[in-house]
Amino acid sequence: MSKSQKFGPPLNPRGRRLEAKDLESITHVRAKVPVKYAWAAGTAMSRFLEELKNGRIIGRKCARCDRVLVPPRMFCERCFQPTTEWVYLPGTGVVETFSVSYIDTNANRIKEPILVGTVAFDGAPPHCGIMHYFGEVSPEELKIGMPVEPVWKPKEERVGSVLDIKYFRPRKK
Ligand SMILES: [Zn+2]
Repeated sequence: MSKSQKFGPPLNPRGRRLEAKDLESITHVRAKVPVKYAWAAGTAMSRFLEELKNGRIIGRKCARCDRVLVPPRMFCERCFQPTTEWVYLPGTGVVETFSVSYIDTNANRIKEPILVGTVAFDGAPPHCGIMHYFGEVSPEELKIGMPVEPVWKPKEERVGSVLDIKYFRPRKK
C-alpha cells in the first residue's frame, strides 16, 4: 500500500456504478447560512413598494425622452438626466417573455409547472417592466404579447412587496 492510499478513501477493487446519491455531494451543498441583511430601497423603489400596498403601479417619467420607467428610477439611464414626474399606470400589460419551469425554487422536479416571465406595463415602453408569475392560464395558452392584468392579494395581506401581486392572469376586461 502506498503512502497516499493510507490516507485516502478506502479503495473498492471491484468498483461500483455511481448512483444519484453519490453525485449529490458534487452537485449540492447543504448548509444553513444565518444571513441577516437590510437594504435601503432608495427613493424611487420605496415609493413603488409603498404603492403596491395600495394596489397601484407607479413609474417615473423622463421629460426628455417621454418614457415612463417602471419600476421607477430617479434617473433616466438613456438621457443621463433626472426623471421629473410620478405617473400612475393602470397595472395591465402584456407578456413580454415567459418560461414554463418544471423545477421549483429549490431545484426539485415538479409535475405542475411554474409559469414565470416578464410583464411590460401598459403606459411604459417595451422592456420596461417586472418579472412575475402567471396564473389562471395553462402553459399551452400562455403567449408572448398576451394582455394580462394583476391579481392582487387582499389589502390586509399586502406588505409592500412585489408579491403583493399574486400573479398576472389573462386580461378579462
Ligand atoms: Zn430619458
